[in-house]
Amino acid sequence: MSVNGVFAPALDQLKAYQAPPPRPDATKLDAMENPYALPADLRQAWLERLAQVDFNRYPDATAAPLKRALTQRFAMPSSWDMLLGNGSDEIIQMLCLAVARPGAVVMAPDPSFVMYRHLALACNLRFVPVPLDDQFQLDTDAFLAALQREQPALVFIAQPNNPTGNRFDEDAVRAICAAAPGLVVIDEAYLAFAGGDSLALASAFDHVLLMRTLSKWGLAGLRLGFIQGHKALIDELDKLRLPYNINVLTQASVEFALANSSAFDQQVEVLCAERTRMAEALDALPGTRVFPSAANFLLVQQSPEQGRAVLDALSQADILIKNLDAGHPALVGCLRPSIGTPEQNTRLIEVWSTVASGA
Ligand code: PMP
Repeated sequence: MSVNGVFAPALDQLKAYQAPPPRPDATKLDAMENPYALPADLRQAWLERLAQVDFNRYPDATAAPLKRALTQRFAMPSSWDMLLGNGSDEIIQMLCLAVARPGAVVMAPDPSFVMYRHLALACNLRFVPVPLDDQFQLDTDAFLAALQREQPALVFIAQPNNPTGNRFDEDAVRAICAAAPGLVVIDEAYLAFAGGDSLALASAFDHVLLMRTLSKWGLAGLRLGFIQGHKALIDELDKLRLPYNINVLTQASVEFALANSSAFDQQVEVLCAERTRMAEALDALPGTRVFPSAANFLLVQQSPEQGRAVLDALSQADILIKNLDAGHPALVGCLRPSIGTPEQNTRLIEVWSTVASGA
């Protein structure tokens, strides 16, 4: 069937987002999820809460009780407001739609989260990537020059960054915020693991917003992201939010999770300790370099040959991780395992060391 001329030309540059089909038998360390399911006692309480939820009516479109619960955990200045999305992916889309007009530019460091480019192009925007330096830090001079040259309507900065895992130097982020002519969104998807937030930095500027998600904390399947920023900006974005974008099951479940946050926070603590253990173990292997991580995954670099051998061996052991060795010059030979449970990590380290030490 010919669809010539039917779709926007920008779609020619895009591929549908590829997520492999679920493999319940495998150890899934490929998507930066929390590896722990809900503890049994909480699961029972959650099911009892869900038993009170009706789904013949539309959800609460304001999601006010959920927003109140989120605001208790994620405090914000009184001049700010919050908008919820079906994952922060949906918020990235709203942001791109909000600035879309002929010639408008979206800018982000490179490499960074792939959806910035994807959704910018999908909205017929021009996407300008600015290369990170060889330590995966922001190249402040290059970024400031790019801001000056391209005058982007929207800048995304993932703090910590995906797929590199590191936190950017805060002075560099501040300099970019100060110089940006449009909106700056600091994407704190990995906040739970980051050991600090950008609230003070962002609230010093009217045009800087903070985007967060509960996916990495343990709620990936519920799809709940949110953005906080000056009320005037949130009011504009809200015009693009689809009615009832947060369904009744998600609203009830996220409220439940926030009321029981210590269970998730404890899991995060274990994962942070495991991150250190795993980073040290892998970094000690021959030909293997682990980059500093403030997220729930590691970026690990080795020769492409060794990377392929590691991937093969892990896949034979039914351990799934993400291969990043797909054409980006800064990520040659890079693999990205999420931090799993201590048992999962021990198995991963065993398999990895067998390959790396040539045993
Ligand atoms: N931002 C960053 C930096 C991410 O890595 C991700 C997920 N990989 C997201 C946003 C999207 O998260 P979600 O849609 O699950 O909220």
